[in-house]
Amino acid sequence: MKSKTVKCPTCEKPVEWKQENLHRPFCSERCKLIDLGAWADESHRIPGSTTQDFTEHLTEQEGKHH
Ligand SMILES: [Zn+2]
Repeated sequence: MKSKTVKCPTCEKPVEWKQENLHRPFCSERCKLIDLGAWADESHRIPGSTTQDFTEHLTEQEGKHH
């Protein structure tokens, strides 16, 4: 029986799709954690917080000039 091969979403290495591979579609636990970590980082980022910091910084700079 020919086994199916998929591409690891993290490192794009060919991964054999088999029951023994607990980390599929990832090639290893490491790649699985990297992918999950990257996703978590994105979702925890609050949109706008960086912009607010930037605006506050600009206002502070402006005040020093006056
Ligand atoms: Zn991988």
